[in-house]
Amino acid sequence: MSLEIGLVHVYTGNGKGKTSAALGLCLRALGRGLKCCFIQFIKGIQTGEMISAGRLENFEFIQVGRKGYNFTVTDEDVRKAKEGLKLAERKSKSVDVLVLDELNVAIHLGLLEVEEVINFLRKKPKKLEVIITGRYAKQEIIEMADYVTEMTLIKHPFYRGLSAREGIDF
Ligand code: ATP
Ligand code: MG
Repeated sequence: MSLEIGLVHVYTGNGKGKTSAALGLCLRALGRGLKCCFIQFIKGIQTGEMISAGRLENFEFIQVGRKGYNFTVTDEDVRKAKEGLKLAERKSKSVDVLVLDELNVAIHLGLLEVEEVINFLRKKPKKLEVIITGRYAKQEIIEMADYVTEMTLIKHPFYRGLSAREGIDF
C-alpha cells in the first residue's frame, strides 16, 4: 500500500498534543501498511514513543537532539539539526510518512534556515506525507502546508507546579 498523494501537515501552538498527534497519525498509517519514519529534533532524552517504536514494524524512530538541551544553542545543536534534515532527505525516498518532530523549534532557534526546509518540501517525493510539529511555525511553512492545526493552550498542570510525567508527557 502507498498513498496516492502525499500532503504536508503542521501541528503548532502552545497547547499539549503536537507530538502526540503526529504519533497518532503514525499509528493509523502503520495499521494500513504504510511505512513511517519519525525524526525527533531538539530532544535528546528517552521518550516513551521511542521505546514503543522499537517494538513496531515499519516504524523507525530517530532522535537528532542533544542530551541536556537547555535552550542555549551550541555548534553541536546546529550540526545535529543539519544532519537531521539530511537524514530526512534520505528517508523521504523509502517511507510513506515522515514526521519531523520539533522542526519548527529548530528553525525558531536558528539551527536551520526556513529556506532549507521549504526546499526540502518542494523537492519531496509526490507520495510522501510529511508532518512537521513544534511551536512557532514560520509563516512560509504554514503557507506550504495542506493541514495546519494550532494547539491552543487553555490549561496545563505545569502552571500549577506539576512537572512532566513519564508515560504521559514523555
Ligand atoms: P506532547 O508531546 O505531549 O504531545 P507537545 O508536542 O504538544 O506535547 P512540546 O512543546 O513538544 O509539546 O512539549 C513537550 C512537553 O512539554 C510535554 O511534556 C508536554 O506535556 C509539555 N508541554 C506542552 N505544552 C506545554 C505548555 N504550554 N506549558 C508547559 N509544558 C507544556
Ligand atoms: Mg512536541
